[in-house]
Amino acid sequence: MTIDYSLIIQELNPIKIIQETAQVKELSLDYYYFSPILEKKLQDKIADLIVIPTSEEEVLKVAQICVKYHIPLTVRGAGTGNYGQCIPLNGGIVLDMTEMKKIKWIKSGIACVEPGIKMSILEKETKKQGWELRMIPSTYKIATLGGFIGGGSGGIGSINYGQLRDRGNLNRVRVVTLEKEPRIIELQGDETQQINHAYGTNGIITELEIPLAPSYNWVEIIVIFKDFLSALKFGQTLADSDGIVKKLISIHANPIANYFNSLNSYILNGEDCALLSVDENSLFALQKLVKEFEGKITYQENLEKNKTFSLIEFTWNHTTFHARKIEPNITYLQTFFFSLEKVEEMYNYFGDEVMMHIEFLRVGGKAIPAGLQLVKYSTEARLNEIIKYHEDNGAFIANPHTYILEDGGRKHIEPEQLKFKKMVDPYGLMNQGKMRSWES
Ligand SMILES: Cc1cc2nc3c(=O)[nH]c(=O)nc-3n(C[C@H](O)[C@H](O)[C@H](O)COP(=O)(O)OP(=O)(O)OC[C@H]3O[C@@H](n4cnc5c(N)ncnc54)[C@H](O)[C@@H]3O)c2cc1C
Repeated sequence: MTIDYSLIIQELNPIKIIQETAQVKELSLDYYYFSPILEKKLQDKIADLIVIPTSEEEVLKVAQICVKYHIPLTVRGAGTGNYGQCIPLNGGIVLDMTEMKKIKWIKSGIACVEPGIKMSILEKETKKQGWELRMIPSTYKIATLGGFIGGGSGGIGSINYGQLRDRGNLNRVRVVTLEKEPRIIELQGDETQQINHAYGTNGIITELEIPLAPSYNWVEIIVIFKDFLSALKFGQTLADSDGIVKKLISIHANPIANYFNSLNSYILNGEDCALLSVDENSLFALQKLVKEFEGKITYQENLEKNKTFSLIEFTWNHTTFHARKIEPNITYLQTFFFSLEKVEEMYNYFGDEVMMHIEFLRVGGKAIPAGLQLVKYSTEARLNEIIKYHEDNGAFIANPHTYILEDGGRKHIEPEQLKFKKMVDPYGLMNQGKMRSWES
């Protein structure tokens, strides 16, 4: 069916829209190009229209129009996703949620917000009451909370609170459906799993209630080590040191730090290093631990005091971002190793072709090393070979080179989630082509 957008635009009035081609193109894409595979597949995808609602009522109206004319709908936060999660495969409307950014309330360790709020802005407010976000992606300065729930997995803070999908990390959401008669539904507790990391295929989130964490005075620290294994073992020991309050343990094998231009005076020759965030009251204990592993602290600064940079923006997938600025052919993997031995095995096997970048996080109550390794990309066949070698040898890869939910970290869609999709999006209009089990 051909869609007459002049009619749609009239019906959308007075909701804000963007039609100008360059802007539509920009707001149709995300950071998909970190993957050479996705770059080829997605670079030409573009929406027909960008719609920017400012309230739940406007979202409901957009949903009604999409259902009435069978228009594909792709929800977008800040567009910092890495797997083309908010790139429309079949045109239609991209719903930009960044104007729905109200903080409704913050009390007793819980925040209730609209989904388009930037995480950095929300955290500024929660800190006034002694709270902070449990976990943030390294893109927290611009990324939205709705986008983090819809497309993210974890980040700085995951060493304490696990991943977004872990029970208890999301209290409640309000969601607009794309049923014959679109409506607003509320999901509580475990029910929120239906929309968690669903790439916006299961309804439009219009409100979120999240639990917070007590706020600390974080000190950012760089430690350099004589070799990678010392850095890695230090990371695991720090992760397991329950008395040391920390938020970030990011380990980088030589020569990764050479890509961190602003940190060159602290890591002179790309040494194996750890980038950390530790509570100021844990510094004494940390220094002892550093000594035990023969490390050397080369940088130490209170997060609030350093206005020029934060170490956060060199960790998680920002590591890949900095590497690509210098060597654009670099891409990355996302790997759960579950043991230091497995990290060591892959580190020795691949050498500099797959440079080892580890983030420690809590999975099922245990601190484990997860890789965001930097890969020197040569061909798609070789990349697949590298992935297969990891999988054949007991490492779990959440493939970042696919936009299909089931081929990435999820591996499969729960039957309840599919059932939920049938209810909230019976015409399959939301983020078409991203959920294989629906398409088939
Ligand atoms: C340099 C770099 C570093 C990164 N580091 C991390 C990291 O540390 N941890 C991490 O998890 N991710 C990371 N990411 C990925 C991404 O930045 C985060 O997941 C971020 O939170 C996404 O937020 P966003 O607002 O940009 O969402 P978008 O990219 O705009 O959207 C993400 C997904 O959520 C859906 N969505 C957005 N809003 C809604 C809504 N209101 N209702 C329903 N669905 C919605 C979209 O359809 C899309 O599928 C990184 C990316 C880059 C480029």
